[in-house]
Amino acid sequence: RRAAQAKAAQAPCVMADGTRIEIFANLGSVEDAAMAVSAGAEGCGLLRTEFLFLDRAAPPDEAEQRTLYARIAAALGERPLILRTLDIGGDKPVPYLPRIAEENPALGLRGIRLGLARPDLLDTQLRAAVSAIPGEQCRIMLPMIVDVAELAAIRARLAQALADTGRTAPVQLGVMIETPAAALLADQLAAEADFFSIGTNDLTQYVLACDRGNAAVSDKVDALHPAVLRLIGHAARAAAARGRWTGVCGGLAADPAAAALLIGLGITKLSAPPGMIPALKAAVRELSMPECVTLAERACAAASPHAVRALLAGAAA
Ligand code: PEP
Ligand code: MG
Repeated sequence: RRAAQAKAAQAPCVMADGTRIEIFANLGSVEDAAMAVSAGAEGCGLLRTEFLFLDRAAPPDEAEQRTLYARIAAALGERPLILRTLDIGGDKPVPYLPRIAEENPALGLRGIRLGLARPDLLDTQLRAAVSAIPGEQCRIMLPMIVDVAELAAIRARLAQALADTGRTAPVQLGVMIETPAAALLADQLAAEADFFSIGTNDLTQYVLACDRGNAAVSDKVDALHPAVLRLIGHAARAAAARGRWTGVCGGLAADPAAAALLIGLGITKLSAPPGMIPALKAAVRELSMPECVTLAERACAAASPHAVRALLAGAAA
């Protein structure tokens, strides 16, 4: 029985109607990677590299980053590793970066904006990633993108990193959809990006104008808001029209009750903390596409997150 459970944990995730949904893990360390694989993760959908940069006096140099990324890649076997470039700045202070006072750090110099303001940090990271992570396993993802101009600037830097390291194998370059601008411009971004991953944590705070760290509005920061769901569906459709996939790596992907809704909106990969992988796989295996699509349509037509929750509870009953 235990052997059967272990086998189910490692088996690919397929819906009741045969639709393939990949279940990935969000990682922040080498230790997480081994844990994710034993939990049945089919890859890493989000490596939060900033965890490797915080709590230190100086940033890890290129050689140290190479070692870390290579160890995580090895722990994942051949499974895909989506490495997100540094998402520091804003309210995550780092001792070796000059602290600029910002009144609204969530709207400030964070994510890819910091990467473009400090290309030395970004280029070092890109070189380390493309030289440490082999072949098709290596995928790079960009946080806080708002338009194709930013993506084009990074694509040029990635090309330079490939040239500098002598790497010839291509590297997929994807964007996080976590600003309203990126979701609205998804058709343009899908023409230039290899994949999308929805950051529901930031997308929700920016769409609803609610600080995700402010306890006074924490009950309003709800990713099940129909405004957020419509943008997710909009982005996934734009990606599919270009033959690109869309995943979700924000907190909503870790809720097994929301899986049917996300799949109905066009999501084909979910990435969640390693501990959630078995429950997610079990939930997805029960689903079939027509019910997911109907649920998504109803949720997008609902008037509030509360109404969406009632739909989810009804679907599960
Ligand atoms: C998100 O915003 O949903 C996301 C996955 O990124 P982070 O939580 O690291 O900002
Ligand atoms: Mg984010």
